Amino acid sequence: MDFAEQVKGSVDIVCVVGEHVRLRKSGPYRYMGLCPFHQEKTASFTVHVARQFYKCFSCGAFGDVFKFVMEIEGISFYEALKALAERNGIPMPQRSQYADEESKLRGSLLAMHEIAQETFRANLNGPAGETARAYLAKRGGSRETAEQFGIGYSERSGKSLLRVLEQRNFAAAQIVESGLVGRREDGSVYDRF
Ligand code: ZN
Repeated sequence: MDFAEQVKGSVDIVCVVGEHVRLRKSGPYRYMGLCPFHQEKTASFTVHVARQFYKCFSCGAFGDVFKFVMEIEGISFYEALKALAERNGIPMPQRSQYADEESKLRGSLLAMHEIAQETFRANLNGPAGETARAYLAKRGGSRETAEQFGIGYSERSGKSLLRVLEQRNFAAAQIVESGLVGRREDGSVYDRF
């Protein structure tokens, strides 16, 4: 069984909603209360015990226990899942391989963008950036604004970002993923800048 399903199966939506809404029983499988998602004086918010969902007949709010926690606390699905699991003493599984790969990739992308900015700045301020500086000056952009916006420039004599990234051992696939370099139809990569 999927972990989210497991958590859902061991949590009672009536208890969770009951922490935020004063509920009263209004049928064998139903509780009612004032909707927490809109202003009302007459209860139109229902929680179904057997089917474990909530529904507001006035504003249309509807969902399961995760949706309720997400909406009421303004958090993500993952955070709601984690909060409910922790509150109920259910250990979170090891983060999946996919999540690990994904966060690793995100970290690499961030690092690559930082290196790109450094490289551009170095190129812009170095001898190779002379043309770029002249170009910017003509367009009315100062070196400061160029730096501020991370506008870079690399000439043949300047350092290629692609080469810099390769030297820092980033995998080619990740470099392409970063959008900092392009990939030609034949599969080879090139510096976008
Ligand atoms: Zn409502």
